[in-house]
Order: sequence, then structure tokens, then C-alpha cells
Amino acid sequence: MWRPPLSQTIQRAAHWRCPNCGRGRLFRGVFRMLPRCPECGLSYFPEQGYYVGAMIINYVVTTACVVAIFLMSLLIPDFTHLTVNQKILLWMGFAIAVSLALTRHAYSFWLGLDYWVKPRQPDAPGSAPT
Ligand SMILES: [Zn+2]
Repeated sequence: MWRPPLSQTIQRAAHWRCPNCGRGRLFRGVFRMLPRCPECGLSYFPEQGYYVGAMIINYVVTTACVVAIFLMSLLIPDFTHLTVNQKILLWMGFAIAVSLALTRHAYSFWLGLDYWVKPRQPDAPGSAPT
């Protein structure tokens, strides 16, 4: 099976496009993924639990970002007069915002990475999603 170049796969994932054809979009709405590529028919859900890896990527990157920024914030003198609970609440909100901002990227890169590792053919037109 032909393997696409990694640079092409990364470029398509960065633009939230189908890893097979590069034309079909991945998302309908903000977080809802299409079941398959509208252009070539590649299934975006080849098996149950497919996107657990994307969730792990999202968690790891979010944690790394929040911890890095938190550690850098320790170098800045505290001028806010916030209580510890208020600071914790702010950091939790920041972590949730970062996680939501990275969700589409994590799903897109997971799909692209999986397609690059295990290239697969689109299903036959009209077949039921698996
Ligand atoms: Zn496609």
C-alpha cells in the first residue's frame, strides 16, 4: 500500500483535511467530525474508540502547556492580590480553554498519523460505516 509523504500528511492534518485526498474537510461545526470524507469516502471512524489516542495527545499537550506557563509565571512577581482558590480557578479555566482549542488539532493529527502509519483505502460508495 502506498504511503503518503509525512510532510503531506502533516500539512493536511494542520488544515483539517482528509489524509487520503486532501480535499475533504474533517469537521462539520466546531467539534463534530464528519463520519467519512465527503470527497473520497475515507471513513474517519474506522473502529470504536479510535480517537482515544487523540484525547491522550490533547491531554499531554495541554498539560505541558499549562505546566510550562505556570512555571514561567512563578518568575513574575505577584501583583494580582488573588487568593489561592481564585488562582486555582483561573488555572483550571485556562487549562480547559487550551484543551478545547487543541481538540480539533489533536483529532486531525491523530487521524493523519494513523493514516500515515497504516494507509487504507476508502470504503466502497454507499457502504455502511464500520
Ligand atoms: Zn478524502
